[in-house]
Amino acid sequence: MDLRFTPEEIAFRREVRAFLRREIPSDIRRRLSEGRHLSKQDMVTCHRILNARGWAVPHWPREWGGQDWSPVLHYILQEEIQRAAVPPPLPFNVSMVGPVIAQFGNEAQKRRFLPATANIDMWWCQGFSEPGAGSDLASLRTRAERDGDHYVVNGQKTWTTLAQHADWIFCLVRTNREAKKQEGISFLLIDMATPGITVRPIITIDGAHEVNEVFFDDVRVPIENLVGEENKGWDYAKFLLGNERTGIARIGLSKERITRAKQLARATPAGDGTLWDDPDFRKRVALIEVQLKALEITQMRVVAGARGRSAGKPDPNSSILKIKGSELQQATTELLKDIAGPYGLPAADGHDGANEPPVGPDWAAFAAAMYFNYRKVSIYGGSNEIQRNIIAKAFLGL
Ligand SMILES: Cc1cc2nc3c(=O)[nH]c(=O)nc-3n(C[C@H](O)[C@H](O)[C@H](O)COP(=O)(O)OP(=O)(O)OC[C@H]3O[C@@H](n4cnc5c(N)ncnc54)[C@H](O)[C@@H]3O)c2cc1C
Repeated sequence: MDLRFTPEEIAFRREVRAFLRREIPSDIRRRLSEGRHLSKQDMVTCHRILNARGWAVPHWPREWGGQDWSPVLHYILQEEIQRAAVPPPLPFNVSMVGPVIAQFGNEAQKRRFLPATANIDMWWCQGFSEPGAGSDLASLRTRAERDGDHYVVNGQKTWTTLAQHADWIFCLVRTNREAKKQEGISFLLIDMATPGITVRPIITIDGAHEVNEVFFDDVRVPIENLVGEENKGWDYAKFLLGNERTGIARIGLSKERITRAKQLARATPAGDGTLWDDPDFRKRVALIEVQLKALEITQMRVVAGARGRSAGKPDPNSSILKIKGSELQQATTELLKDIAGPYGLPAADGHDGANEPPVGPDWAAFAAAMYFNYRKVSIYGGSNEIQRNIIAKAFLGL
């Protein structure tokens, strides 16, 4: 297995790096790097710049904007987006619902949804998890019952990321309560403007409004919004969850944070010198960097191995990337929090009721909030305990 990049791949990396630094507003990149929450407009702006360049949906089928790239080029693009602190194209659109519609939707659905989804003219959110159905997703209870040419949906979704911005939600709903639990689920596309939908914020530990509860009370959904076959939604959900293979470790993001941590430590007074003069601090950074290098090599092995795998089949190695990648993301936010020290505020976006401006350097105010926010990465997308179960089954035969 050759883990080196070809000259074409190296040239592509340079092209991406230059493009991102030139075209993406530097103010948005700076705010993301500091851990501030971006506005909907910030995210839409960046998504559309990437889409206009053909880089929002390169993994889609060619007729819908895809690029027929090797897994290595996808990996390079994602890594550079992360390293440049550019908000990535909205995953609910580009990695989740888009590929499902392209693979299982009918022609009318493809024409109606795919171009608008690629260009974020429609903002999607993901309605999978429910109270009591997270890790054990197949236990979901939101039900959809046929009434003429509509489904009537009743139930509740939770942890729905950025539902407050969403125009549409893709939902797993129960359409057969008699069947085995995985076999009675369907995949439904629901317009968020439909009467009977209520979105209620959940405020996270850092004071941010990122996730929501979504309630459905007699919501009427036209049957043409069913994707694929009724009661086959579990297959489409597995395809969706297996689709995100290359970017899961977010190595570029951790590299960007380490670079920043070093710069900040060199500028932070400590004792007679700076924090960077402290050998214990440098050892801590080195330890994270060594682990990140090892993870990068594992990532490259997965990317190189992806050439031979069929689309949508999850690689169990992704679970290793998820566990270690999320642990390192948490370690880097912890590093930045510790550099900020007493200047880090627990809720920097003004949700803590404080009416005094932050003291200390501007960036430091957000460091602790980012640390708290990143507790989420070992939970969402399948918690790290669940990933360990997958590894045990796939590699140890348990
Ligand atoms: C910030 C954030 C954003 C999210 N965004 C979305 C979204 O947009 N859309 C969406 O549908 N969902 C979303 N989720 C939900 C996410 O997918 C679930 O939180 C996750 O799957 C865990 O489910 P749960 O919260 O119900 O916890 P539970 O499944 O109740 O788990 C509780 C604890 O028990 C452990 N556990 C559970 N089962 C096992 C087992 N078999 N073996 C060992 N340990 C186990 C878990 O690891 C966890 O530590 C989001 C979650 C978070 C935190």
